[in-house]
Amino acid sequence: MLRSMRWAKRSKTALRESEQALFGIVQGSVFPNLRRISLGEIESIGFPGVALGGFSVGEPKLLMHELLTDLSTLLPAEKPHYLMGVGTPVDIVLAVENGIDMFDCVLPTRNARNGFLYTWNGVIRIKNARFKNDERPLDEACGCPVCQRHSRAYLRHLFNAGEILSSILNTYHNLFFYFELMEKIREAVRRGELRTLSHQLVEIYGPVS
Ligand SMILES: [Zn+2]
Repeated sequence: MLRSMRWAKRSKTALRESEQALFGIVQGSVFPNLRRISLGEIESIGFPGVALGGFSVGEPKLLMHELLTDLSTLLPAEKPHYLMGVGTPVDIVLAVENGIDMFDCVLPTRNARNGFLYTWNGVIRIKNARFKNDERPLDEACGCPVCQRHSRAYLRHLFNAGEILSSILNTYHNLFFYFELMEKIREAVRRGELRTLSHQLVEIYGPVS
């Protein structure tokens, strides 16, 4: 953690003349005291945004959310907060409840290529035999072009045949789902209904375990 803080200082110095928004990255693994020290250090160096790194690397999910709750009151309110490498729909909404604004993650695209598709009724594993003759769209609640034009049976066929179009269509749908998820989260924040939305997502996808 201390080495990362030294790097942060050197990076800030090196980029002094740049117009890039360089975010400081908080480290400290699963130790709340190290996370707090690291956040204090990042704030004292002074960055336009705060990133939380070293999460979602194999530690228990519940522990990550506990650490986020612990840090949430210390995050500077006037700056954007970025949680690196997270996550599932439930992880994202719970993190937003703890003040996180930004995310990046491979899940929607990597899972899409593996036939693991997000819907507003839960996950669909498109290779399953029960979709063989299923003419319904992936997700009736989804407005994406894939759900408008193609059936589960066709998407299953493409996946099982190893067609590259399978990866393309599945990725399109999953990214559309994630964009819609973030839109719903922003709307819920505006209306003060974030807790309701997080309960709905936990109903659909199950609690963090
Ligand atoms: Zn769709």
